Amino acid sequence: MKIHVDIDCFFVSAERIYDASLVGVPVAIGGRGDPYIFSHTPIEQHYNLDNRGAFLGAFFQNYDDSVDDRTKFIDRNGRIRGIVTTASYEARAYGIHTTMSIREALQRCQSLIVKAPNMKRYKQLSHALHDFLHERIPLLEQASIDEFYGDLDGWIADEDVEAFIHALRHDIINMLHLPVSIGASPTKSIAKLATSVAKPFGCHVVKERDVLRFIEPIAVAKFPGIGRSMQHRLSRYHIHTLGELVRAKKLVRTMNPYAATLYKKVCGHDREPLKPYRPRQSIGISRTFDPVMDRRELRRRIIILSRHLAFAVMRLDVFPTTFRVGIRYEMSQHTHATATQYRLFHELWFKTLILKLFDEAEQHRRLRVIRLSISCSQFTCHSKRTLSLLDFKHDSNIRKLSKSTQKMQQKYGLDILRWGSELS
Ligand SMILES: [Mg+2]
Repeated sequence: MKIHVDIDCFFVSAERIYDASLVGVPVAIGGRGDPYIFSHTPIEQHYNLDNRGAFLGAFFQNYDDSVDDRTKFIDRNGRIRGIVTTASYEARAYGIHTTMSIREALQRCQSLIVKAPNMKRYKQLSHALHDFLHERIPLLEQASIDEFYGDLDGWIADEDVEAFIHALRHDIINMLHLPVSIGASPTKSIAKLATSVAKPFGCHVVKERDVLRFIEPIAVAKFPGIGRSMQHRLSRYHIHTLGELVRAKKLVRTMNPYAATLYKKVCGHDREPLKPYRPRQSIGISRTFDPVMDRRELRRRIIILSRHLAFAVMRLDVFPTTFRVGIRYEMSQHTHATATQYRLFHELWFKTLILKLFDEAEQHRRLRVIRLSISCSQFTCHSKRTLSLLDFKHDSNIRKLSKSTQKMQQKYGLDILRWGSELS
């Protein structure tokens, strides 16, 4: 059988390890862009880079250990900003949920404790759980910062799985103080669905012969992989539960090319294997902010983002070949520009390229911008792509310089060296 392990409201559970006063009370972890990154005065930043998983959280952030961080979510004009990224079960009882604005969450529960996230702490705990599970389950896949799949086939007999995951859950709370829920079934998707039923701090096993009975009453939206547009289409045919979906086999299989695979997954008939190691495929940075009209200020911001991302790319020692700049405007307009380039990566070249892509992507100059993003992907180590020799000599000299500025940044903080164009 496959199992799915998921930490219950992970960020809240992590904070509770360090501060027992948070246990049993409504707590929310908030997220709000990074209010400091675009400031004109240098600030001390801590970065959090890691090439182990397929995810990269907020990698530049500031954190201190106060009990309630409510004030961090209040901007200069006294408005409460930011959204809830994790809510404790006590907070959920007030109707507070992930993606709700913190302002609304505080209206619903005045005694709510709002904490700023500490990604460094969460990553450490995520690694600890990874290592703990890996000692007990040979084939393990990390699906996100707090989610793991384990393959027990040939390791634990099916009839012993229930006892195994029950013991595992108690070992994890005793050793790592993290509450987890675990689902088990013959396939990954059904195991994940079983976990959602088991929450909080529970276990649920779905045997092969029970899959159809188990999924019957569950809403289609709960199934991993059924997104909004698919839900809409299904509801047009009066399909709201997974049981109804299974009975509409012919219809569902013709909906789109992916639907046939999805149908198998819902029935528990797919054999998707675990992916024990997922190398990082891309890296990016993005920030949402109050609407900005001034194009010079936007260029300044994209340069700052490019400096931060360049630092991360150099730290990871990867050579990306595909680059993307995305702009989000008011009134739900998005534009983007991409480029493929086979150059040895260094900061100066990267900054120039990103500015060029930014100009290309800028299509609504009369609209204010609310978000900028940059990403790099298609690393040479994962593809057959090689770097151009044409500019190699020139680039490698500048790269050496970039490497030494990076050493200074590592020592004195990222803001120790900034481009002149950022200061205007
Ligand atoms: Mg979780």
